[in-house]
Amino acid sequence: MHITGKNFIGFDQSACGKVTFQTFNPNNETANEWLFTEATPEEVDAAVHLASEAFLPYQKCSGDNKALFLRNIVLELEKVKDHLLTIYGLESALSRPRAEIEFARTVEQLHAFAQLLEEGDWVEASIDTAITDRPSSPKADIRKMHIPLGPIVVFGASNFPLAYSTAGGDSISALAAGCPVLVKAHSLHAGTGNIVAQAIISAAQSSGMPNGVFSNLQGSGKKVGAQLVQHPLVKGVGFTGSIQGGRALVAHAAKRKEPIPVFAEMGSINPVVVLPSALKTDSVRWASTLAASITGSSGQFCTKPGIILGITGPLFSKFIVHLGKKLMKITPSSMLHSTIQSNYAEMTRMIARQEGVSIIGSRGNSNAVNVGEINAMLVDGKVFLENGKLAQEVFGPFSLVIQCENKNQLLGILNSLEGQLTGSIIACELELKNEPQLIEALQKKVGRMIFNGVPTGVEVCPSMTHGGPFPASSDSRFTAVGIHSIKRWVRPFSFQNWPQLLLPDELKDDNPKNILRLLNKECTRDKVK
Ligand code: NAP
Repeated sequence: MHITGKNFIGFDQSACGKVTFQTFNPNNETANEWLFTEATPEEVDAAVHLASEAFLPYQKCSGDNKALFLRNIVLELEKVKDHLLTIYGLESALSRPRAEIEFARTVEQLHAFAQLLEEGDWVEASIDTAITDRPSSPKADIRKMHIPLGPIVVFGASNFPLAYSTAGGDSISALAAGCPVLVKAHSLHAGTGNIVAQAIISAAQSSGMPNGVFSNLQGSGKKVGAQLVQHPLVKGVGFTGSIQGGRALVAHAAKRKEPIPVFAEMGSINPVVVLPSALKTDSVRWASTLAASITGSSGQFCTKPGIILGITGPLFSKFIVHLGKKLMKITPSSMLHSTIQSNYAEMTRMIARQEGVSIIGSRGNSNAVNVGEINAMLVDGKVFLENGKLAQEVFGPFSLVIQCENKNQLLGILNSLEGQLTGSIIACELELKNEPQLIEALQKKVGRMIFNGVPTGVEVCPSMTHGGPFPASSDSRFTAVGIHSIKRWVRPFSFQNWPQLLLPDELKDDNPKNILRLLNKECTRDKVK
């Protein structure tokens, strides 16, 4: 499979535009050979119309058919895996082991959603049968289930070219929900996206899916992306990236004649609280674990520990020394792109310039280009509270250690933070038991709390919440990871006194799909008698 550089308008490839671009190999800062053509406004419009036409037939495909489509995407991806992972490396500088992990995760997500569709319970069918002789007034027969929203636009993430991009969590959850998907390809890994798009299109064709169920459009976010979000036939948006990008899309969506939901997963500094009890015996171990979490994939994870909080004293001072030593033993690597590297370098310089900030350790690597220099800095709790610049996310292998005067100040800092994806506490159970205020403060701010662990390494499973109060995500009621992320792309719909013959199978009396339903307030697979 070769990289065509063209847009996918449904099943057709198209390159009518004059604007072209290339991706870059961050490892040697040379342009990759492929030329990508930016989608024209006419091509964007054609793709959205096709998606809108595909919506009804796709919605009507059975869960098993949609599951087959998702499983066929896996088969197509497996066929091109080696080539795909090579391109992934050439466009991201992420290592082969990391590529393997991300590929496995992408496949796992596809299978998880396929299984969800085969089982069918996810529609949360609910049936309240009629009570014609109710003394107050007759009660109608009312039946409810989730139905898809319509065409969804997905913006992939720079830091997850596979698992959060073209065939990533947003696209696959939307396809599983019954929504056609239009991907705005990420400009930094358009080649990876092009190969994955070809795999999705082949799978759609071999599974008998309608033309328009998937499109892949290349070009700038501000042109192609904005046009997609503003298009009246688009019904929702999924985004992973920067706060600025996410906010811009939320604003575009809100200004439309018909505002639409935008599920944007944006920045997070993922506070880690280290309590004294954990440092008595395990200071070196925790320093080592945190150093690996801060620097993994050059710190380019949305769950990277951005701030580490502890109470001033000999134990915390020793831990800071250990952390510095562990970090300085790690060799820094190239970042995703020179612009990301220069943003990172600028941010770390800005933090270092702030009054009261000192350097714990800093390590570069002159043998590579676009290197994300490893940086750990130290600041007192009082200074942190007074300087809002220190609470910004620094995307890269950086962490700010905050020495708090006492637990009250630590609590004050947690209360001052914006919404976060995660919050971690490193402590012994007994000490944590005596800190209910700390737990409450953290829970208010985050989507996931971690005890004696680090926030990186987001497990894909039904119980995972990957989201949190703004700006961690634009809507804290939903997760962007795991099967429940499907709920972002559906709406509840009720049928009242609807004829049996015309009801969806999920709501029919005889429960032909044998799904779990809420029948007159009881959870059961029983038929309606
Ligand atoms: P990004 O710049 O927000 O871009 C993500 C996607 O959104 C891209 O497809 C981009 O289009 C599009 N986009 C960005 N701004 C837009 C706008 N105003 N209107 C319409 N579309 C827009 O995020 P990223 O590429 O993942 O990372 C770039 C920077 O974001 C990094 O330097 C980092 O500082 C920050 N960041 C990223 C993450 C993350 O988890 N990915 C987390 C925190 C911070 P283009 O193709 O034109 O770029």
